[in-house]
Amino acid sequence: MELPEKIQREIATRRTDILDLSRRIHADPELAFQEVRTSRLLQSVLSAEGFTVSQATGSLPTSFRAVHRLSTDRPRVTFTAEMDALPGLGHACGHNIIAAAGTYAAIVLKSVIGSEVGGTIEVLGTPAEERGSGKVRMIQDGIFENSDVVLQIHPHTLDTVVGQALARRTLTVKYFGKKAHAAAAPREGINALDALVLFYHSAALPRSKLPAGCLFHGIIEKGGQAPNIIPDYSRGRFSLRADTMSKLERLFEQVTALAQAAAAATGCRCQVTEPGPDVTTFRRNLALEDLFAGLFEDRGRSDPRKTRESYGSTDLANVSQVVPTIEPLVKASDFPIHTEEFAKDAVGVGGERALLDGVFFLACGGSRILTEPRLLDRIRQAFLEDANTAPGAAE
Ligand SMILES: [Zn+2]
Repeated sequence: MELPEKIQREIATRRTDILDLSRRIHADPELAFQEVRTSRLLQSVLSAEGFTVSQATGSLPTSFRAVHRLSTDRPRVTFTAEMDALPGLGHACGHNIIAAAGTYAAIVLKSVIGSEVGGTIEVLGTPAEERGSGKVRMIQDGIFENSDVVLQIHPHTLDTVVGQALARRTLTVKYFGKKAHAAAAPREGINALDALVLFYHSAALPRSKLPAGCLFHGIIEKGGQAPNIIPDYSRGRFSLRADTMSKLERLFEQVTALAQAAAAATGCRCQVTEPGPDVTTFRRNLALEDLFAGLFEDRGRSDPRKTRESYGSTDLANVSQVVPTIEPLVKASDFPIHTEEFAKDAVGVGGERALLDGVFFLACGGSRILTEPRLLDRIRQAFLEDANTAPGAAE
């Protein structure tokens, strides 16, 4: 029997367990950095299947690493399991599917592949994708250093293997003024809310004039305590995004200049900080895209090389800059991610089909990489050829 057939059979045998894992994660959503029960559940499933499980890095308590070594250490195929949910929406990004697919891809691959094959099968539990960019910390802590490829699927509204993500920088903008009675002594005050509102408008109004591929959006978090007190403190949180790193730098310079201008106009003091690390654009790997496009087509998911006109950001993009990485999107719903409808579909018919197909794609892709050394060479070569899309490179 060929490996894809064995993989298919193994998935059919484990179908109930795969769907059950996804449903259990979905029923108990946890926010970024707090994925305690989800992480524990995934670890216990992998440990019961004979994987050696440990915390991946001390700087992220809910991270984990599960490994199974075949006859050699390398190559190492890493499946990533995103675990966090969205505030108020639960698993509206389908991380229940991502986590269950990565976990069972590793389990299925371990079950079907001969122990004489060289390499290591790994699952990394990666916390805080929605807020905080956990994978960036894991890169900094060296967690991906031994990975030869990183594979992850994402449920979505379409089928595509093409990697696209916007670079993103988050900013916290604070203004400091002076309190005063808003009626009795208004001239004594320095209004920090005025400064933030002025900044918000001055940065938001030119949005339609931003270069293509650039976005600016945000919220006001603090704007005072009572209407009769002139606010001495205000705070907003903003995201800047761009389709190249150099556009992101230019946007950052423009926006911080406007923040300072609003301070000068109102007499406030301004402080701009970056609460989290930048996420980068996605470094596509054409050899991995070819591999997965073939798998998608064989499975009846046609036309898998579509590009999208609008898309978001992900910390997996940073991983793609250091290790050959792919994140194929598997259609799970007609509704966009980050909506209540998508959250429902993440355990509906479309979501479950995406999950089972996702396990198949990841396990087949992993098996090909472990058993075809020349394929891995092509993937490494494609990674080097795409170096011109690295951060800071020309547009
Ligand atoms: Zn998301």
